[in-house]
Amino acid sequence: MTDQRPILFLDVDGPLNPWRAAPHRRPDGYTTLRARPTGWERPRRALRVWLNPDHGPLLLDLGFRLVWATTWKAEANTWIAPVLGLPELPAVDWPQMHHLDPEGVHWKTRHLVATAAGRPFAWVDDEIGPTDRDWTARHHKGHALLHRVDPAKGLLPDDFTLLRNWASTQAES
Ligand SMILES: [Mg+2]
Repeated sequence: MTDQRPILFLDVDGPLNPWRAAPHRRPDGYTTLRARPTGWERPRRALRVWLNPDHGPLLLDLGFRLVWATTWKAEANTWIAPVLGLPELPAVDWPQMHHLDPEGVHWKTRHLVATAAGRPFAWVDDEIGPTDRDWTARHHKGHALLHRVDPAKGLLPDDFTLLRNWASTQAES
């Protein structure tokens, strides 16, 4: 039987790693990871990542099928998932990254809509804007929730509540 749950496309830097929080004060509940992903542009220097281990169980409990949608790509399974207590998750493999889009949408937007292929999805990212919502509404046939998370704060209880409620309305429809 196929998994009928909506997809949650999950960005790492911003929602899970509040990279924009004050640099010398780790937010409460977070732990520090020093990561050396192969895609990191300064490989001799470890990348500091703050992660909250409570987020894994919360994410698993939301009613979504979780999919990494991050520049970490499948390396999120190596570095991020173990700290959060997440199982290995599928990862979106971007055909290209950080490119400018002719219609001004985020570089992830078209590929996520294509990947969802009409199925309901939510996407949490710190770089979502109104153009992405408009474009998705015009090009995606199913329901979609594009939810911006403040990269200074990361995912907060209100974000989890919103996502859980949205997933439950998808299950009913
Ligand atoms: Mg981000």
